[in-house]
Amino acid sequence: IRLTDNEMVAKMSRLTDELTDLTRELNKKNRELAAANTKITQLMHTDPLTGLSNRRQLMELLEAEMSKARRHDYALSAVMMDIDHFKLVNDSFGHSIGDDMLVALSRLIKGSIRSSDLACRLGGEEFLLVLPDANPSIAFRRIEKIREEFAGLNQSLKPIFPTMVTFSAGIATYPQDGRDLDELLKNADRALYCAKQNGRNQTVITSEIKTDPFIRM
Ligand code: GH3
Ligand code: MG
Ligand code: MG
Repeated sequence: IRLTDNEMVAKMSRLTDELTDLTRELNKKNRELAAANTKITQLMHTDPLTGLSNRRQLMELLEAEMSKARRHDYALSAVMMDIDHFKLVNDSFGHSIGDDMLVALSRLIKGSIRSSDLACRLGGEEFLLVLPDANPSIAFRRIEKIREEFAGLNQSLKPIFPTMVTFSAGIATYPQDGRDLDELLKNADRALYCAKQNGRNQTVITSEIKTDPFIRM
């Protein structure tokens, strides 16, 4: 079939319009896909119960934080926290009261951290805080404040939780307590273990551990 010039122009114009529509639709789909990807990444990195970062996210960010501390030559404290006798809480009052406690603690943590800090729920009733540019005594003061606030919840919740809403914490600080991530976290864990051994509801700093160095976890 032979088209007249006018018919050709009309056809071209229709095709151009169609192409414009398709491009617009493709752009919209791409934006939706990008938003969905952002959401997936966020879900992958977040603990659903508390909204804190999860272990995966923390480990990714922590390596970068360690490098920054190394490069700029400042201290970085890692704080391992673990709720005391949490199994007993669950067994005595039920899992949902236990969940409420996890949420209550994470609220206190969120309320007390700075934008440069990292806070995560490692899993169960264990939390890890990373405080860049905080030496052991600064980290100690900041954790003690959270610990006292958390223990203070006993007052308002006394009829439900008799003197059991407490946590223990262990602090290890780069560079003196560990020059790499693995060593730093091991020492924070060891300090936490000492806090438990010493009677719980307290914070222990790695450099102040006086027990024998061959302590077994
Ligand atoms: P310790 O003072 O030595 O830390 O004792 P603990 O009882 O806190 O420690 P243990 O590791 O024996 O118990 C941890 C409990 O945490 C066991 C498990 O049922 C509970 N748990 C783990 N994840 C969750 C959760 O998401 N929600 C609730 N409610 N409980 C959880
Ligand atoms: Mg535990
Ligand atoms: Mg515990």
